[in-house]
Amino acid sequence: MIEVRDLHKSFGDLEVLRGIDFRVEAREVVCVIGPSGSGKSTLLRCINLLEQPTSGRVFVGDVEVTDDDVDIDAVRRRIGMVFQAFNLFPHLTVLRNLTIAQRRVLKRSRSEADRIARENLERVGLSEKENSYPAQLSGGQQQRVAIARALSMGPDLMLFDEPTSALDPELVGDVLAVMRTLADDGMTMLVVTHEMSFAREVADRVVFMDGGVIVEEGDPAQVIGKPRNERTRTFLRRVL
Ligand code: ATP
Ligand code: MG
Repeated sequence: MIEVRDLHKSFGDLEVLRGIDFRVEAREVVCVIGPSGSGKSTLLRCINLLEQPTSGRVFVGDVEVTDDDVDIDAVRRRIGMVFQAFNLFPHLTVLRNLTIAQRRVLKRSRSEADRIARENLERVGLSEKENSYPAQLSGGQQQRVAIARALSMGPDLMLFDEPTSALDPELVGDVLAVMRTLADDGMTMLVVTHEMSFAREVADRVVFMDGGVIVEEGDPAQVIGKPRNERTRTFLRRVL
């Protein structure tokens, strides 16, 4: 579903990604862990071309994202993205937050967009909030709305960049629970997270990045439980 080949990204003199190769298969859940500044967000952002790679190739499905002639809007429509900040429209109700891009981008009718929005609100456990405004919701609820909004576009895969790190600790569990049901439903997911128990329990594979390279990857129990590399061990000692 995603294939990254020898990906490099520099910002000026700073080489942030220094040759990344990896794949995410359909229905697979891959968690990316690593210290701050190791390039995790940059990697995610190169996959949907929010950042332009300096060199290397990225494929999403059978489309080469790094091809000069790519229809990037078409690729982005297939990729749901959830960030640390929820970025909901504050002046729109929850329901309208879920329907606006469906109407404008996918040209769905009002009734179809509403139906799909309500299905996804139910999936994240927030049916009763459809008429609320974002400011009336907790951070965890807002993040679940952001997930439902991404799902309403019918993505083939979901990218998550530290979706719980801006939340109060007691709100993290509800968001992780929603992500877990998505994984169980077979969604293809690439998740940058500091939640090691989520990575251990939900991921099919864990990728440890440091200094712009993949240092170690494999089965979660192995990478988190019995890391082979000293840099992985040092990182895990700090976060566990
Ligand atoms: P964190 O865990 O703190 O989110 P990260 O692994 O996601 O870290 P990135 O955000 O990918 O790290 O950043 C990697 C490096 O690239 C950092 O040194 C950062 O300062 C730099 N960087 C990221 N975006 C830009 C940019 N637009 N311009 C210049 N430098 C950038
Ligand atoms: Mg980041």
